[in-house]
Amino acid sequence: MNRYTKRFSISDVPSWMCPICESSTLSIDRQTFFRVETADSKKSTGHSDWEPDWLRFVYSCVFKCANKQCEGVVSSVGTGCLEEGLDEEFGQCFSEYFYPKYFYPNLKIFKLPEDTPSEIAEEINQSFSLFFCNFDSAANHARIALENILTDLKVKRYKIANHKRKTITLHNRIELLPAKYEKIKTLMLAVKWLGNSGSHSGRGLTPEDVIDAYKMLSVVLNAIYDDKHAEASKLAKGINKKKGPK
Ligand SMILES: [Zn+2]
Repeated sequence: MNRYTKRFSISDVPSWMCPICESSTLSIDRQTFFRVETADSKKSTGHSDWEPDWLRFVYSCVFKCANKQCEGVVSSVGTGCLEEGLDEEFGQCFSEYFYPKYFYPNLKIFKLPEDTPSEIAEEINQSFSLFFCNFDSAANHARIALENILTDLKVKRYKIANHKRKTITLHNRIELLPAKYEKIKTLMLAVKWLGNSGSHSGRGLTPEDVIDAYKMLSVVLNAIYDDKHAEASKLAKGINKKKGPK
């Protein structure tokens, strides 16, 4: 998943997966690539301290799926700049790098198990769509996905106190999960903390923080909704009980 935190250049695109087939990578359609210098960047050109790394761009382009049969196309916009690096042939040089802000349709940063209920999948997809432009909101949608997972697992949402219906906090709902989910409780609590920071903290989350949340959420989803995982657990349980073949 770490590849989704990386920038791209015209000649080097990280291996981002096509969101249509989810099995081939995207490559840039060079004919569609445009970049234009921003107004602020132009204004700074006359400054006596001006250096090439003061240049700023906006870009737009289309990425295409590497698998010709898929025909997936994804449009993208974002920002760009010049960064100094070392070239084997030319030595010290500046290269143009681009930072995506949006993709349409949105990239799918990890694969969901096929049996993920739609209200959970939609929330995670909402998170993916915000990943490149608003890290705090992306983490917050991952947190809402947790609430939906708990509701799907029939964990109660309300309690009655003093004849009034009160909402049970996400933290307490996670604690209410039955013993068989003990292993994933720790993961869910960590995703919750990151989602909370997304809503309340002053520091703001980094893309790496959101990727951490996705890594844990992906394990949680696989443990609950991946058929193969459930089947294997059931098989192991039966064999362990008999201490030998079924
Ligand atoms: Zn594709």
